[in-house]
Amino acid sequence: MPKTNLLGFTAAQLEGLMLSLGERAFHGRQLFKWFYKLRQYDFSRITDLSRDLRTRLAEGYDFRGLTSEHTMLSQDGTRKFLFRLDDGLAIESVLIPEEVGRKTVCISSQVGCPLGCAFCATGKMGGGRNLTVGEIVGQLIFLRDQYGEDAFTNIVLMGMGEPLLNFDNVIEAVKIISAGDGLSVAAKKVTISTAGIIPVIRRLADMKLKVRLAVSLNAALQEKRLRIMPLAKKYPLGQLAEVLKYYTDVTRFRVTFEYILFAGFNDTMDDVMALSHLIRGIPCKINLLAYNPVEGLEFERPSEEAVDWFAKQLYPRAPAVTVRRSRGTDIDAACGQLAAKQRKRRQKDA
Ligand code: SF4
Repeated sequence: MPKTNLLGFTAAQLEGLMLSLGERAFHGRQLFKWFYKLRQYDFSRITDLSRDLRTRLAEGYDFRGLTSEHTMLSQDGTRKFLFRLDDGLAIESVLIPEEVGRKTVCISSQVGCPLGCAFCATGKMGGGRNLTVGEIVGQLIFLRDQYGEDAFTNIVLMGMGEPLLNFDNVIEAVKIISAGDGLSVAAKKVTISTAGIIPVIRRLADMKLKVRLAVSLNAALQEKRLRIMPLAKKYPLGQLAEVLKYYTDVTRFRVTFEYILFAGFNDTMDDVMALSHLIRGIPCKINLLAYNPVEGLEFERPSEEAVDWFAKQLYPRAPAVTVRRSRGTDIDAACGQLAAKQRKRRQKDA
């Protein structure tokens, strides 16, 4: 009989497991701390459990993390990891050292993505499946096992997939991440990035978690957004702006808008005006990023001057504007690029 992998089990699930084994529930909380905080996965070393319980656990259970099949290091220090999952599918995480003391890790929430944004390598792969809670936190545990406790300071769910389409698992993962006896990363250091799944944004607002929300906007005119993000048909911009007003009212947090600039597409004065109109009344900041070209896709990267011009026009009309410089361009760090290439290679080899 294969052992049950406890990777991704929450404290409540581990308590339930202990009860099912005829043990006291609090042993489940002890195990939770050993796995996630102390990173000890060998039952024989979990010394505050009885020898008998450790033996029974070792017979039926284990805690198997993810293994990275491929790692790439960019000249700018960005590292990209490709993980092969038990069913043979692949996901990516990217570790981005920023200013001193801040390291952001970008993790995946799905294999592939069903939303099919026209500019995105993951979108080209189509929908695969939701990641389990274990596969989400496993990306982080791998990094801590490799690089130690301070492998990362901030977490963004901005890798492969749309996190709000895998909401329940993402929320369970956030609970493990933010628990003091878990990975112990404050919820406010965790950002969930969505393309704009309106009803789930409302649910998230009502849960009053302290996680931060980013919205991948990329166009502030409905017709343009529809051309690059098909979900805009079901969730139009006007309704998106309304739910974001609701979100900021209820949570008192500002929202981050991610706006990728594509040369000659969404970088005109009309776009500046539409964007400043759209965000009116929404406490927010806007991150501008020049498009990182993806092989086989039609979009082009704007010049640095064009990006700076856009930022200058926008700044007096928006409360906060930041220009983010692309990272890891030499290692295909944009989400899904490496996994998409690996998939093509495997298909060719098959
Ligand atoms: S940009 Fe995000 S939402 Fe759009 S296809 Fe890519 S992963 Fe999915």
